[in-house]
Amino acid sequence: MTTYGTGSRILVTGGAGLVGSHLVDALLAKGCDVTAVDNFVTGSRENLAAHPRLTVVEADVTEGLPVGDEPFDAVLHFACPASPVDFETIPLEILRVDSIGTFHALDRALADGARFLMASTSEVYGDPLVHPQPESYWGNVNPIGIRSCYDEAKRFSEAAVAAYHRHKGLDAAIVRIFNTYGPRMRPDDGRVIPNFISQALAGEPLTIHGDGSQTRSLCYVDDLVRGLVMLLESDAYGPVNLGTEFELTVREMAEIILRLTGSSSTIEYTDRPADDPERRRPDLTAARELLGYEPQVHYESGLKTTIDYFATR
Ligand code: NAD
Ligand code: UDP
Repeated sequence: MTTYGTGSRILVTGGAGLVGSHLVDALLAKGCDVTAVDNFVTGSRENLAAHPRLTVVEADVTEGLPVGDEPFDAVLHFACPASPVDFETIPLEILRVDSIGTFHALDRALADGARFLMASTSEVYGDPLVHPQPESYWGNVNPIGIRSCYDEAKRFSEAAVAAYHRHKGLDAAIVRIFNTYGPRMRPDDGRVIPNFISQALAGEPLTIHGDGSQTRSLCYVDDLVRGLVMLLESDAYGPVNLGTEFELTVREMAEIILRLTGSSSTIEYTDRPADDPERRRPDLTAARELLGYEPQVHYESGLKTTIDYFATR
């Protein structure tokens, strides 16, 4: 167990994205010196306010990590587009960042003797046949489907982390993140929460894929980041699921967002994408036992904060 604070040097790849930027803020608040590397493919420089202990480096992590030679105490690998819309538009970039990019981040952590945190995903469970999903479940993934660039790349990254941990003794941890939302998501991100909020605020129909009976468990970004810092500061290797047990159907999400925005938008039912997982909820036993993690933010309040953010954009 290590506490990171004043004097700790931390590298965050994907630091300008939703999760990365909130993680950067949390690390700065603890007193750390943070270097954020991002190529802004889905993130934004605006997500990172100037700070005397923050260095922002614009770079594609698949090309290397141009961050100087001074060693880092921790390397947190969060660079990767994460919206299913990206899976169809930039699949090769996703495959590269979660293979070549992961190797660059792993090699840097190994060279520096740093702790390494890998942002994996509930998508490694694919369209799960076990519910809720414990870390022991191996998943149900279509290796050549439209989501495979993401699911299989994350599974490859997990395998790479496991090999560095097992064969090279790297101090590493894998976190499987479940549907996380919050301020700083792009309005056109394509994921369900930014889509529904943008549509509701614009008075446009909310686009439900299929009949809306599929479920996801929504996690507000602050809850996730608390869990990530707990995992970073623990000795756990994992994999550890992080998210919440607030499982909602997509239809319920639409109804809640219509109510919270006071929008009179209608609902439009559209085609369900291939391989869209039917049900998803994390088994949080490991997070509770290893980290003492407990989600704290109810979706009503997390969604209100996110709606307020989108309303001022
Ligand atoms: P995001 O798109 O907001 O952030 C990803 C960031 O990575 C962006 O800033 C993007 O510009 C950057 N990036 C992508 N490719 C890069 C490259 N080659 N070089 C440098 N930077 C690059 O997505 P997010 O929701 O913040 O996701 C962050 C991480 O968490 C990802 O690894 C994602 O797979 C994982 N994750 C997120 C969720 C979620 O629900 N938000 C769920 C599971 C896993
Ligand atoms: N979804 C939807 N309408 C949208 C966007 C998404 O009904 O405008 C559905 C999507 O088909 C999936 C769920 O919402 O069943 C969650 O999708 P998201 O893209 O947020 O993330 P996923 O968990 O699928 O990676």
